[in-house]
Amino acid sequence: MNPAATSSPAPLLRVSQLGKSFGGVKAVDSVHFDLARGELLALIGPNGAGKSTTFNMVNGQLRADSGSIQLDGVELVGRKPREIWHMGVGRTFQIAETFASLTVIENVQMALLSQDDKLFSPWRRAAHYRRDEAMAVLEQVGMSAQAERSCNVLAYGDVKRVELAIAMANKPKLLLMDEPTAGMAPKERKELMALTKQLVLERGMSVLFTEHSMDVVFAYADRLIVLARGRLIAEGAPLEIRDHPKVQEVYFGSGKTFEKLHAEVAGEKV
Ligand code: ADP
Ligand code: MG
Repeated sequence: MNPAATSSPAPLLRVSQLGKSFGGVKAVDSVHFDLARGELLALIGPNGAGKSTTFNMVNGQLRADSGSIQLDGVELVGRKPREIWHMGVGRTFQIAETFASLTVIENVQMALLSQDDKLFSPWRRAAHYRRDEAMAVLEQVGMSAQAERSCNVLAYGDVKRVELAIAMANKPKLLLMDEPTAGMAPKERKELMALTKQLVLERGMSVLFTEHSMDVVFAYADRLIVLARGRLIAEGAPLEIRDHPKVQEVYFGSGKTFEKLHAEVAGEKV
């Protein structure tokens, strides 16, 4: 039988034997995982596990010491962040202070300008630049009604939607979100992740995200990978990971469970 006929479709992202050390510390040690098209994959693990380092190698901010990161079969290791971004790897950024005084739609227009490698000049505001397209992106994140408001007057959850819109303006194949819901109230967290899931379904985009809130991870991730001290210790569906003894032990230490951790994060007495 032709093996190609039976193998599953090639993944969007394939990470193999990825390694990065800082001084003597192996921040990421032989990490490997695949990310399918249209998949929402959560990267979890305790502080210092190597999540952000892994992210920053995928987006090109950090150069891997070893291993490979392939997007659609094309090697990303050694490429500059901007090139990787042009290849379809987006990431959410916090809106910088200088842009907070701009309106919601202007922020998305700036992202579109940047995509065309046009430089923003403050005396030539982006007012008319690809306005319809910017509005369409805002519609996708439920922010079109607030398009003309200045970002610095928005509720925190709405700022996060605009940050998502800015990342979506580049039509990424893969969106990276490092702790997207940090600092958000539980209701806002769920709304943001529900929106992300909806965008994944509607646009066939893939998402790799890190998250501390376990209720968010278990409710929205299609699959989880777990890092501890730079190493991949488990991967699987949310329910498999929840019951994985190695994850319970290495990730939380003895006596802790996901439920207790969740309660701690929520500020309840355990
Ligand atoms: P996580 O995001 O899972 O909390 P990180 O990827 O930030 O973990 O960090 C993994 C390990 O690498 C930690 O031991 C951290 O102290 C170390 N580390 C991360 N970035 C640097 C850096 N720029 N210089 C030195 N050590 C770093
Ligand atoms: Mg981190």
